[in-house]
Amino acid sequence: MMDGNEEEAVTDRTMQAWAVDVPGPIGTRPLTRVERAVPEPGPGQVRVRVSVCGVCRTDLHLAEGDLTPTRHLVVPGHEVVGVVDRLGDGSARFAPGDRVGVPWLAHTCGVCRYCVAGRENLCLDPRFTGWDLDGGYAEYLVVDEAFAYVIPEAFADEEAAPLLCAGIIGYRSLRRSNLPTGGRLGLYGFGGSAHITAQIALAEGARVHVLTRSEEARELALRLGATSAGGEADPPPEPLDAAILFAPVGTLVPPALAALDRGGTLAIAGIHLTDVPPLNYQEHLFEERSLCSVTANTRHDGTEFLELAARYGVRTSTTPYPMDRANEALADLAGDRVNGAAVLVNPTRPA
Ligand SMILES: [Zn+2]
Ligand SMILES: [Zn+2]
Repeated sequence: MMDGNEEEAVTDRTMQAWAVDVPGPIGTRPLTRVERAVPEPGPGQVRVRVSVCGVCRTDLHLAEGDLTPTRHLVVPGHEVVGVVDRLGDGSARFAPGDRVGVPWLAHTCGVCRYCVAGRENLCLDPRFTGWDLDGGYAEYLVVDEAFAYVIPEAFADEEAAPLLCAGIIGYRSLRRSNLPTGGRLGLYGFGGSAHITAQIALAEGARVHVLTRSEEARELALRLGATSAGGEADPPPEPLDAAILFAPVGTLVPPALAALDRGGTLAIAGIHLTDVPPLNYQEHLFEERSLCSVTANTRHDGTEFLELAARYGVRTSTTPYPMDRANEALADLAGDRVNGAAVLVNPTRPA
């Protein structure tokens, strides 16, 4: 517990943060360590003392300039697990000491036609953690309390971090794919997001077929209980009721559509996809095959996913990096050298 004096002491302190200086190839070390005032939570916000922050491919896109930073020296990181240490005016959802997760979706307007219709993932004026707002590559960050998540006790901080982006987006993709109960699901690409999604689908009784060029990923898929694992464009051994494309590779759209049974759906999970080659209507779309994209997520998706992940015993494997080695973690992600998900650990994390 803190008394008022100690809170003041924290407020006066500065903190370390790792920010995007000059975006460029990760080998140029675009992240730089900066000294910042510990941020003050505004009305409706809480301040979070960061424990760990997962490293997402979006952070790499930001550091390399593929995703344009909204301002100089923005702090990446949107898979944040930490502890509430100060409340802004009117904040009452959490108490100091509560463990929370801070995800990509940081704010929605609440008044546009999409927000009003419960489709806040399509909000016309959203803000995102670690892009519009400073994220979790830092000792502290502030978050609108309504956009933070309760982290189920089943997960250690490190295990929970990848759930907050990779997990939630994969979960929304799964729901968008309209997989029927006990249905046949194809997963194209098998990285962090797909291996979490596979565990949810398997726990719900699906037959899962994994299509990926990585032999190591195929072995992991079979260990997790997938029915089959084949090459990235191979036909699966049976027609699919639903499929999710995780690999950002547009040339996989035609074979994935061709693998669908009548009435099946292919959901594209990525924020980015290379060009899709021409489709043949008879082969790829007729017989009511559907093709859909997935854009961000709602808070409802996130809450539902975290509860299910705990109930089903979803496991994530992670590799810790001290926060000072954020450039190395991103370089390892770019070079496919991370075993499981990279997670940055705040050297001054709460005990
Ligand atoms: Zn992400
Ligand atoms: Zn809105």
